[in-house]
Amino acid sequence: MIAPQDCQLCPRLAAYRIEQKSRHPDYHCQPVAGFGDEGSRLLIVGLAPGLHGANATGRPFTGDASGQMLFEMLFRYGFASKPDARSSHDDMRLFDCRITNAVKCLPPNNRPNGDEISCCNAYLRSEIANLKPAAVILALGAIAHRAILKALDLPPSRYRFGHLAEYGLPGGLVFIDSYHCSRYNINTGRLDRNMLENVFDRVTELLR
Ligand code: URA
Repeated sequence: MIAPQDCQLCPRLAAYRIEQKSRHPDYHCQPVAGFGDEGSRLLIVGLAPGLHGANATGRPFTGDASGQMLFEMLFRYGFASKPDARSSHDDMRLFDCRITNAVKCLPPNNRPNGDEISCCNAYLRSEIANLKPAAVILALGAIAHRAILKALDLPPSRYRFGHLAEYGLPGGLVFIDSYHCSRYNINTGRLDRNMLENVFDRVTELLR
């Protein structure tokens, strides 16, 4: 199940899409669907499309700084056919991996509110339901972490967010966290290449 291009579930986000389309007529400015096979063994969940990245290109983490280290890692660990993603017309292929967002539409100031995260959660729920058995779900940041728990009807009090925190879930899924690979986190040193490599080392080990 993917969000319809004229999704109206979140009035604030629907209005913001229209506002941004009038400013940037050549941008996608619609819900951004997940990228990669739904029946993969790895699902990576980010926050929401970035204004000049996924919101412009129509593909998660494509065209913005947040995607740079992520696609580099995906390529290095064999999940992507190329190390960088600037446009959705680049023939990029993902292998046994899907990338999506907790919220499919661009939120003002990069911050979806609680209602928007809840309204959009049915799409994430369906993406998780379509994963292969014993798949790994990687949350990029605390908002993605909470959205995944919501989609799985699991209580946040039992599953705390932390870089490299890892949880076995009912049904054989494994849930692992990373700090978000945003430009802000990288510039402030909260996340560096080595820390993201540790995450991908563990993901690869879990999928072996
Ligand atoms: N682009 C996305 O698609 N998701 C994020 O979380 C950040 C940038």
